[in-house]
Amino acid sequence: MTVSKRIVLHFPTRLADRPIIYRLVKDYNLEFNILKASVTPEKEGLLVLELSGDQEEYDKGIRYLTKNGVKIQSLSQNVIRNEERCTHCGACITICPAAAFELEPLTRRVIFCNERCLACGICIKACPPRAMEAHF
Ligand code: SF4
Ligand code: SF4
Repeated sequence: MTVSKRIVLHFPTRLADRPIIYRLVKDYNLEFNILKASVTPEKEGLLVLELSGDQEEYDKGIRYLTKNGVKIQSLSQNVIRNEERCTHCGACITICPAAAFELEPLTRRVIFCNERCLACGICIKACPPRAMEAHF
């Protein structure tokens, strides 16, 4: 059976120059499509990708990643903003890898563009009043 899933890979800095994704293709015959790549303020690598292939090989590939210290997060969650809590402080704007937050110049309010959100969850920890929430 063939599967195709959207996942977020969190790479610790020590793995930055290792050919991890190349091994997924070569050893497990998986195909990938990179949707987003960035580096967090803590210098952790972040890769959002669509990974497809045979279910068995997919599972082996995921095991290979986790064994090597890559943290994997499924994109089945939905991240929303609790409008009552948001203070429009702007802390989320620069850390979002998908540019899902924008400052409205006239009002100085921070707009959340839900349709751009990749549900990586980075803003949840970064938001001082905990206005960003993950829903499953
Ligand atoms: S960090 Fe939180 S409170 Fe600040 S603008 Fe973003 S969502 Fe609103
Ligand atoms: S979860 Fe937050 S940081 Fe991640 S893409 Fe969505 S809005 Fe941006």
